[in-house]
Amino acid sequence: MGELSEKVQIQNKGLKNRHFINIKAFNIKAFNFFGSLSYFSEIGISTTNIILTLDTSIEFLKSIGPGRAKLIKNVLNIATVEDFLNFYPIRYLDKSKVYAIKDLTEDLPEVQLKGTIVDLKELGTGRGKRLSAKFQDETGLMDLVWFKYSKWLKEQLPVNREVYIFGKVTLFNRQFSMAHPEIEVEEVKEKATRLQPIYPGSEKLAKRGLNQKFFQNVLRTICVQIPGLINENIPESIRKTLNLISRQESFLNIHFPADQKHFEKADRRLKFEEAFFFQLSYALKKQHHHTYAVGNPFTIVGDYFSGFYENHLPFDLTNAQKRVIKEIRTDMRRPIQMNRLLQGDVGSGKTMVALLAMLIAMDNGFQSVMMAPTEILAQQHYNSLKELLVESGIEISLLTGSTKNVERKIIHESLLSGELPILVGTHAVLEDIVRFKNLGLAIIDEQHRFGVAQRARLWAKNRIPPHVLVMTATPIPRTLAMSFYSDLDVSVIDEMPVGRKPIITAHRREKDRLTVFRFALEEIEKGRQVYFVYPLIEESETLDYKNLMENFVHVAEFFEGKNVAMLHGRMKPNDKEEAMQYFASGKAEIMVATTVIEVGVNVPNASVMIIESAERFGLSQLHQLRGRVGRGADQSYCILMTSDKLTKESRTRIKTMTETNDGFKISEVDMQLRGPGDILGTQQSGVVDFKKLDLVTDGKIIKASKEIVEVILQKDPFLALPDHQSLKNYYLTHYRGKTKWGKIS
Ligand code: ADP
Ligand code: MG
Repeated sequence: MGELSEKVQIQNKGLKNRHFINIKAFNIKAFNFFGSLSYFSEIGISTTNIILTLDTSIEFLKSIGPGRAKLIKNVLNIATVEDFLNFYPIRYLDKSKVYAIKDLTEDLPEVQLKGTIVDLKELGTGRGKRLSAKFQDETGLMDLVWFKYSKWLKEQLPVNREVYIFGKVTLFNRQFSMAHPEIEVEEVKEKATRLQPIYPGSEKLAKRGLNQKFFQNVLRTICVQIPGLINENIPESIRKTLNLISRQESFLNIHFPADQKHFEKADRRLKFEEAFFFQLSYALKKQHHHTYAVGNPFTIVGDYFSGFYENHLPFDLTNAQKRVIKEIRTDMRRPIQMNRLLQGDVGSGKTMVALLAMLIAMDNGFQSVMMAPTEILAQQHYNSLKELLVESGIEISLLTGSTKNVERKIIHESLLSGELPILVGTHAVLEDIVRFKNLGLAIIDEQHRFGVAQRARLWAKNRIPPHVLVMTATPIPRTLAMSFYSDLDVSVIDEMPVGRKPIITAHRREKDRLTVFRFALEEIEKGRQVYFVYPLIEESETLDYKNLMENFVHVAEFFEGKNVAMLHGRMKPNDKEEAMQYFASGKAEIMVATTVIEVGVNVPNASVMIIESAERFGLSQLHQLRGRVGRGADQSYCILMTSDKLTKESRTRIKTMTETNDGFKISEVDMQLRGPGDILGTQQSGVVDFKKLDLVTDGKIIKASKEIVEVILQKDPFLALPDHQSLKNYYLTHYRGKTKWGKIS
């Protein structure tokens, strides 16, 4: 067995990082565990007395014990050997390269230099006291400094000897300097043939001696046993096709890569594995759903649908709308519950698709419910559906938090008796008291504002669960859709109604205000309407309110003689509705609002959207706001007002907005700026907590994994073939039951 050298650690008490000086060289005998690979001799192995399994508690590792095990569990949530193997380095130090002082630049990560320490002295007094030295190589001179140090360190420093120093350099007074360098004496230097892993530690752990050296040693101890610990879980044929290294190799090389290339291979394999099992688990779930989820078959296309389609359709459907309706019809015809997502950019006409689906439900004797996340939206849906249905004489009701008791009671009763075929509402429709005679279709608008649990309550409102159609106007990036929605069937409306002119978007600053206002006035004179949207700026609602009021007065002054409506979050539902009506009916030419109008509001005559302090909004929010105009036949405009000073990120956002109207493109940029978790919103962000996979950069891997999963399940839906046993076993032990959705997705 390899024998760990005595390593003397010079511990500078109170220092954040500890620094080491190798007094004696490693003396490691070659290990032949791993065929011809001598990994362990290279990485320096400590011995362990017990044979590890993946489930072995870390307290049994030689260097840990119960006390430290508890601490590690608390801080890092690592309890077993397997957890530790999955504890990946955040970066690696490259000690194979030696820099010369003349080649240093300030942006280098930690670097290694070879030379001598000279001129050691103590400087300053009291708190400013420090230890200083010069370091020289053949190419130049630099400073070393210790702000905290013990007398012992000072005496032990190998002055005037050939040493390697290692650390981050900074430029100070035009001279490079390194604080608290790690020092190794030339003759005893550990030959660095591998990259040194750096783990995501913490100060709390480091204070208890659980520093990088500790983690490295623990991982060495574990990695030595990898041949007995790690089984392959991806069939060889797939590994060959995709050129993936083995699982054993990938763990060794993720912790102790020989070089960048080895790291990349390991990284790619582990990413693929993560993507693959994620896709597999959702594909299996979907397969299960398609096989077993009982639903009401809507076999009839009858008078409600046909009558409306032939006589009352106010416009020709776009091809995309037609295609999507066909997909939905096909789904609902089967005795299996539909579980479908309808993606379509703002203004693409999802409401009509929803209505047609509800008419099919009616033709089959079933009721429908449509749920929106806010009162305003529910009201809007109700208004537009009611208008569409007026000539067909079909009943429809609205149920929200502010529905009066009398009316509420009538709704409850007519739902239960089956008289009321269509209900629109907010989450008020979820309440237990809302019961249907036979709910056949549940439509949920603006999907990610609702949590899974809420959706599950809709599911439970019928003995045989209703078909579910989730509609979202927030386009999400392809990779995100492939992972987040992988258990849903997805329909996409990727075409706008004809005659829509793309919205013209411009960026303007405070100095242009007068021009902007005049432009708005011209549009109003032409009979159009204008939105002014303000961000919430202050922490306090009162201040926000004051802010909005001031702006309101401002706008009212400039646009004297015009009617201005105001809408903000603190208003009572009735007042909001009144303000909305005031604007929607055309009585008010101008709407001054906070972001309450963000989603779904539909006033086709409004053609100018002026967003104030646009730099304070996120991309998807800007896109949503812009979607409030361009809903009619007129040329529409979106003007993004910003201050003069913009951060790099806000400049990117504004630029993206002025360059494209394509919601999917915008969502890609948004994900690059904010990361996938924030795109989905807080409720679902946990769903995309991948260990290695990065939805922003790993699109190719995700796509490949999805395709491979499809091929496998097509050939072997129950994973019964011998070749698939290892992956099946891994899936069963690691993934089943861990997926985060309930029955509904
Ligand atoms: P969203 O997908 O954002 O919910 P809506 O359903 O609110 O979009 O539709 C936006 C506007 O486009 C509405 O005024 C609607 O009447 C109109 N519309 C929908 N489909 C068409 C179409 N095929 N042709 C013309 N106008 C349409
Ligand atoms: Mg809508």
